[in-house]
Amino acid sequence: MLPKLSFDQTTSPEYHQFLTALSQTEFSGDIEQAYGSRLAVSTDNSVYQNLPQGVVFPKSTADLMVMTKLANQVPFKAVTFSARGGGTGTNGQSLTNGIIVDMSRYMNQILEINQEQGWVRVQTGVIKDQLNKYLKPYGYFFSPDLSTSNRATLGGMISTDASGQGSLVYGKTSDHVLELTSVLICGEVLHTKAEATAGSSYAVDSQASRIASEVGKICRDNRELILKRFPRLNRFLTGYDLEHVYNDDLSEFNLSRILTGAEGSLAFITEAKLNLTKIPKLRTLVNIIYDSFDSALRDAPTLVKANATSVETVDSKVLGLAKQDIVWNTVSDLIPERQDKVTDGLNMVEYASNDATLQQQRIELLCARLDNDIENEQGGILGYQICDELGQIMRIYNMRKKSVGLLGATKGFKKPIAFAEDTAVPPEKLADFIVEFRALLDSNNLSYGMFGHVDAGVLHVRPAMDMCDPQQERKLTEISDQVVALTAKYGGLMWGEHGKGYRSEYGPEFFGQELFSQLRVIKALFDPDNRINPGKICTPADSTQQLVKVGDTKRGFYDRQIPLTVRESYGPAMSCNGNGQCFNFDVDSPMCPSSKVTSDRRHSPKGRATMIREWLRLLSNQGVDVLALERNDCSASVVSRIKNSWAKSQGEYDFSHEVMDAMKGCLACKACASQCPIKVDVPGFRSRFINLYHQRYLRPLSDYLVANVEKTTPLMAKAPRFSNFLVNNPISKQVIAQVFGMVDSPNLSVPTLATRVKESSQVANSGSFDLAALQQMSTEQRKNQVLVVQDPFTTFYDAPVVEAMLVAIKKLGFEPILLPFKPNGKPTHVKGFLSKFAAMAQDASDFFNQLAALELPLVGVDPSLVLCYRDEYHQVLGNKRGDFNVMLFQEWLNQHREKIASKRFKGEVIPVYSLFAHCSEKTALPNTHADWIDIFATLGIELTTEEVGCCGMAGTYGHEQSHLKDSKRLYEMSWQPKVANKPKAQVLATGYSCRSQVARMDGFKPKHPVQILADLLD
Ligand SMILES: Cc1cc2nc3c(=O)[nH]c(=O)nc-3n(C[C@H](O)[C@H](O)[C@H](O)COP(=O)(O)OP(=O)(O)OC[C@H]3O[C@@H](n4cnc5c(N)ncnc54)[C@H](O)[C@@H]3O)c2cc1C
Ligand code: SF4
Ligand code: SF4
Repeated sequence: MLPKLSFDQTTSPEYHQFLTALSQTEFSGDIEQAYGSRLAVSTDNSVYQNLPQGVVFPKSTADLMVMTKLANQVPFKAVTFSARGGGTGTNGQSLTNGIIVDMSRYMNQILEINQEQGWVRVQTGVIKDQLNKYLKPYGYFFSPDLSTSNRATLGGMISTDASGQGSLVYGKTSDHVLELTSVLICGEVLHTKAEATAGSSYAVDSQASRIASEVGKICRDNRELILKRFPRLNRFLTGYDLEHVYNDDLSEFNLSRILTGAEGSLAFITEAKLNLTKIPKLRTLVNIIYDSFDSALRDAPTLVKANATSVETVDSKVLGLAKQDIVWNTVSDLIPERQDKVTDGLNMVEYASNDATLQQQRIELLCARLDNDIENEQGGILGYQICDELGQIMRIYNMRKKSVGLLGATKGFKKPIAFAEDTAVPPEKLADFIVEFRALLDSNNLSYGMFGHVDAGVLHVRPAMDMCDPQQERKLTEISDQVVALTAKYGGLMWGEHGKGYRSEYGPEFFGQELFSQLRVIKALFDPDNRINPGKICTPADSTQQLVKVGDTKRGFYDRQIPLTVRESYGPAMSCNGNGQCFNFDVDSPMCPSSKVTSDRRHSPKGRATMIREWLRLLSNQGVDVLALERNDCSASVVSRIKNSWAKSQGEYDFSHEVMDAMKGCLACKACASQCPIKVDVPGFRSRFINLYHQRYLRPLSDYLVANVEKTTPLMAKAPRFSNFLVNNPISKQVIAQVFGMVDSPNLSVPTLATRVKESSQVANSGSFDLAALQQMSTEQRKNQVLVVQDPFTTFYDAPVVEAMLVAIKKLGFEPILLPFKPNGKPTHVKGFLSKFAAMAQDASDFFNQLAALELPLVGVDPSLVLCYRDEYHQVLGNKRGDFNVMLFQEWLNQHREKIASKRFKGEVIPVYSLFAHCSEKTALPNTHADWIDIFATLGIELTTEEVGCCGMAGTYGHEQSHLKDSKRLYEMSWQPKVANKPKAQVLATGYSCRSQVARMDGFKPKHPVQILADLLD
């Protein structure tokens, strides 16, 4: 049986006391000490893991003042903190064993915009894409770019001086900071902006004026050395930017420049005034392909000289990975591959401006040069393609952004890891540097892919290593040292883009002892007792405390405590690399609805993967063989389970409860399974966990109700009117809500599908399925037959949709045959009844395999249930699943376009329909939108598609009382405003759940697109 899991990493008494005291002040944010909460922020995208003592989520500058002032009281003087935003650091920048101050949950308000002067004031938990979405209608954008723009915060960007694509033109974050508001560890607020003399704008003798004048003095006194020492690069060597505190002629001093790039080691930055850039009206991208990566790199300086706004590159490895991913479907028509030559390098050259003539001239010049080189076979250039449309350009960049994640999705235990992933050297030296860098990596037998910003000399490289192997862990430190030496040899930096974090130990080497000691003086001015992000960048002057080191404790140290077989079996949870793509802020993206609606990192795919890893580790440390628990039914007796559940209700701690809470919030929408670059499929390991959890604890009654829905619904449908009355009268509703915790039960269709088919003038024959008769038919006789697969929801609750499908098939000249209803099993999988699910899946598979042998098409209508045949069936049955294929209706229609064309609608002009596709469908099948648009176009009808997130219903999730609020909130976040904009009759939805949610929330049931086809086909 699953044992109870306590853990030994409880919050220390001193921190517990501090956090308790904080909860008794006017601090208005959240304070969390739960183990899961701390675990969720114990990693970032780096190889490191560091468990904090607690997590606080301030709501305002005042909250931080309260917190720091309390921390200055005598019992709490040793409490330390680290600010955190999106947690996307690649080198452990935000990790701490003190308290995480998470700015992302609440401090995400855009406070003020000044259109005339082109600036905006924000709280620092605002996400970069959130800001740009807000700015777009004003014609502005915040121009420093970074790959993690959909989840990285401005606080994180400011603190790492983030930059990325287009940095030659758009600069780094620090170039756009006008003013900052910060809270110092002493509890004082510090406003920083440009001033004529260091400290002149502060009250005499204030802490701020002391800091400013001291910093000013240090930077003036050491000016010569600073200019000599700091590399002449487009990138800043994070630490304290001693060079730019003064402008070139020393007429202006700006203390903000010390805070930008300080990696949160000086103060908590709460607000920022940022300058904005006008969105360029003209953008053109030229995609150039090469015979080798080296050719692409050597061409880069010429491209920069050709006045490109940015030059991005990816090597053959990244290209190869992109080609295997769904993202390739979106760009294959924009990258001009040749049949006769292999493409081994790609440069993406962008021109952006507001001057059409200049833009045209530049592109013509570039193309003339490229044509010449291609004709003369020079420079390894194989071809190029120009993209003028913004949509095309964004598709290419999306591919480039996703490349970072794609590299992490490699199979096996060796995973691409960040530790030397952002080297920067002068661009003209880049190709030679890369030759040596590759030799270094090759000599260590490492596999890797490369991509980056060649215009700025920045290359991203993540060699694949297994941090569970102590030998490879040691090798990481050795290689890291060698890369430091190599970048120095080329006059560059090892941290050209992402900051230092655990690489802070190299600081003295790069700054030189003399300047490094000045950094320490500055740290002492802001944070004399080393309490803010201790160990990062530098320690205060005179302090004996140590910097963090490359060789410090890594996640591998914990992961390797889990046996290899378990790690293999739970591969998706083990592989999460923490890149945070699942924190995507955009409510119109399907990625993780539970993360969006809760703003709680535990309720994200990363959070859930982290919880499962720790759960497996704690079990392994207790000598429990999880796989054996799964193989054999080791359930406790009912009496024991009652006892355990009683103890739980009395507050007995078990880490499994924390894991269960995180799993319960998951909608099982499976967006993570396809949208996460590593394909961390949460529903897969979630159902395994729930299955094991209930070996020890009783299940709620609602689980049994849901798991048996495919048995009870067909029975209830024998008397649909009576059943509807029985379930949906006011008394039953109350009883169901109280006993089962279920609400808003839908009504069964009246008349039922069976009656509709029987009474239909068009498809009455389709109800007579006869397997033996089908088996006896010749292939010729069978050629027009189409088998329609029923599912428990559409058949019984939305029968007109299935009827429409039969009619549409018939109208297209085929013979639809309605298969007898076979339970699909998905509800049992969602609730973790895994052996039940396996039995149902096997039964259904055996049935469908018989039919597949007849080579007849099988077609279903509900995306989530049809996709279950492809995914969960494979996971649970393996080879025993067989190879039948149930198509979604649009997939089948795709094979019969000519028939649709022959039935082109000839009636009066039809309104434009709007498709709201099911999120599981559009994430697993990225062509969903395009397919439906084309199908409708073939029929002569216009269809538009809506970008929406999850509707919030997701099977039974939205019917569970405990999720009702979140379910409704999710609908309001994305669907409701878009549905409200459309005439009801024109709203189409492919998911049964989605149609039910619209019905519940907006009082009408949208049609499935097949209903339009059935009506309009001749
Ligand atoms: C896949 C991937 C691609 C990346 N690509 C790029 C890229 O193109 N360009 C780039 O520059 N970086 C890149 N990064 C690195 C990372 O995304 C950036 O450093 C980003 O700016 C971090 O923002 P965040 O909100 O996630 O900060 P966090 O990781 O949470 O924190 C980063 C640092 O900022 C400090 N901090 C955060 N908020 C505050 C605050 N309010 N006050 C004081 N200190 C604060 C933290 O203490 C920490 O030291 C990439 C990372 C990943 C995983
Ligand atoms: S679950 Fe996927 S997207 Fe989220 S952090 Fe892990 S790897 Fe990244
Ligand atoms: S299945 Fe959906 S809700 Fe659950 S973790 Fe994945 S994306 Fe989030």
